[in-house]
Amino acid sequence: MSTIADNIAQVAARIRAAEQTAQRAEHSVRLLAVSKTKPSDAVREAYAAGVRDFGENYLQEALGKQLELADLPLIWHFIGPIQSNKTRAIAENFAWVHSVDRLKIAQRLSEQRPAELPPLNICIQVNVSGEASKSGCTPADLPALANAISALPRLKLRGLMAIPEPTEDRAAQDAAFATVQKLQASLNLPLDTLSMGMSHDLESAIAMGATWVRIGTALFGARTPGHQ
Ligand SMILES: *Cc1c(COP(=O)(O)O)cnc(C)c1O
Repeated sequence: MSTIADNIAQVAARIRAAEQTAQRAEHSVRLLAVSKTKPSDAVREAYAAGVRDFGENYLQEALGKQLELADLPLIWHFIGPIQSNKTRAIAENFAWVHSVDRLKIAQRLSEQRPAELPPLNICIQVNVSGEASKSGCTPADLPALANAISALPRLKLRGLMAIPEPTEDRAAQDAAFATVQKLQASLNLPLDTLSMGMSHDLESAIAMGATWVRIGTALFGARTPGHQ
């Protein structure tokens, strides 16, 4: 069985190879380790192998791990769907939120971000697969949402996040990620982040400009069914 450290080395090699193929600078793509459903010990192993950024989808689970791992200087990213009653804890306990898809949530995060912390880094999740996905704002709603969020005082809008429908067809996968990149470019805002690409499609995402790839399975192994 491969260890988490082995898996990290393999994923790092995939990222580097994809950067080279796309003629992108080394380390222009960063690894976000998605530790949802995995125990704190797995996060410790990844930390020991050099990973600092961790993504979680479920608030209660994340808060528990943050307590258990408080001795480590980890950077926490919230990447799951957000209900209004969860915004305060997210604003207080994360450095990044990748899954903002409506203004009301962004306004609450801005109001609730503690004054002593730096602005909360935000990606807007955009739905480029139509009805195949329920999360994410529509491309049509994106410009107004991005302008409104960029004006909120305690948030720093960094870019877009997307989870295109998976496909075995590389050209179709590339086209979906390219759509996200074009949407980002069409916003007249100083954005530096594209959060896209997971275990099965990171090469395509990197070819189309990803700056964060969010990797779970390829680092930590398969998740138990029912906890996707
Ligand atoms: C679970 C999850 C990932 C990681 O997916 P893998 O296929 O396991 O790499 C990435 N992003 C989000 C938003 C997720 O929910």
